[in-house]
Amino acid sequence: MPTYNGRCAQHGEFEDLMKISHYIEQDGLFCPECGEKAATIISAVPVIGAMPSKPIVIDQIGQTFTSEAEKRAYFAKRPDRTLVDPNDSAFINHKDLARERAEKKAKQMGFRDVEDRRTRKKRELKRRREISNGDKKISVVTAS
Ligand SMILES: [Zn+2]
Repeated sequence: MPTYNGRCAQHGEFEDLMKISHYIEQDGLFCPECGEKAATIISAVPVIGAMPSKPIVIDQIGQTFTSEAEKRAYFAKRPDRTLVDPNDSAFINHKDLARERAEKKAKQMGFRDVEDRRTRKKRELKRRREISNGDKKISVVTAS
């Protein structure tokens, strides 16, 4: 599951962990605090000159572009998404801010840290998936 970097106009930087399919399904990111549509900051190593044999793959958003023009068209239609160089200082600053906020939030929620929250979230999602797949039955204990 990739980590998504978001920015809410009101609440600032955040990071979110989700499946790529989920990101595509909900068409972007939403602020964890207010639920409003948020900007997605996508870091990708820039590829110079796409060729059919060497497409531009941006895993995070589940997109493959066969040309720079196609990539530009995708981003032109989605102003909420910004593609940045991962080494860009503004992006590193954004990540630091998001990490700090996530760390603070996780602790407020009673987790040890962000990693702890992530591990538990992953486990919880896996458990829910297993239940919905019918792999695991919820056992109800009743007093007799
Ligand atoms: Zn917000």
